[in-house]
Amino acid sequence: MNLEYRLETGTRGSRHDHAGHLVAEACGAEAGLVVNNNAAAVLLVLAALARGREVIVSRGELVEIGGGFRVPDVMAESGAKLVDVGTTNRTRLSDYEHAVTGDTALALRVHASNYRMVGFVEAASVAELATLGVPVVVDAGSGLLDDTTPWLDRRPSWLRDEPGVRQCIEAGASIVTFSGDKLLGGPQAGIIVGRRDLVDVVARHALARAVRADKLTLAAVQSVALAYLSGDASSIPLWARGDGVRGEPAREG
Ligand SMILES: *Cc1c(COP(=O)(O)O)cnc(C)c1O
Repeated sequence: MNLEYRLETGTRGSRHDHAGHLVAEACGAEAGLVVNNNAAAVLLVLAALARGREVIVSRGELVEIGGGFRVPDVMAESGAKLVDVGTTNRTRLSDYEHAVTGDTALALRVHASNYRMVGFVEAASVAELATLGVPVVVDAGSGLLDDTTPWLDRRPSWLRDEPGVRQCIEAGASIVTFSGDKLLGGPQAGIIVGRRDLVDVVARHALARAVRADKLTLAAVQSVALAYLSGDASSIPLWARGDGVRGEPAREG
């Protein structure tokens, strides 16, 4: 693939599409869209795909992430109807199956990020959720683009159970959202990747304009995506310091 050629074809008008396309390519998704943060990405996806309809979420994932991002509140703001299933510590595929109705818009999986449950816990995998027959949306939060990123000679222990965006897509997620400024190592942004038909619906929603990323952000996302696509992580500060590969990187929030 000729990235330079593609860059040259990224005209002014399609600049927005272009950054999204490049990130999508870097994680094996059909299409992508960049907005101003991940909270906006989740809100926009829910509003565009599920307003007035039901969204199934595990009770164990009704979490608050730093900065006051609370899953039930974002759901309410979007106009989607929260259908919580399972229990705080254990939720099975059958819990979701029993909750699917003609009014189900999608199943939402939220990565708990800075919160962890240990012990007697169980959660349905993305691959299991993909058998439900409704789109699966994953809020992956941190945005580790690929679990098998080649420059990680061994998976750093601080990555723990961070889901790879590519692996979520491969497991059958229809949409994955994540932050630009966590493990992606880019600017403050929210990235939406996934099925082209669904990303198109999201991009056309009225809220998309209100939460769209500015030109500088798009340019920064584009260069980060190109670094991943070229396999050269050294230009991404998060991974360049060496501590990003072998130790704990400096992380905020
Ligand atoms: C960090 C995070 C958010 C909020 O992302 P921002 O880019 O800070 O808006 C939402 N969901 C999850 C799972 C997160 O980890």
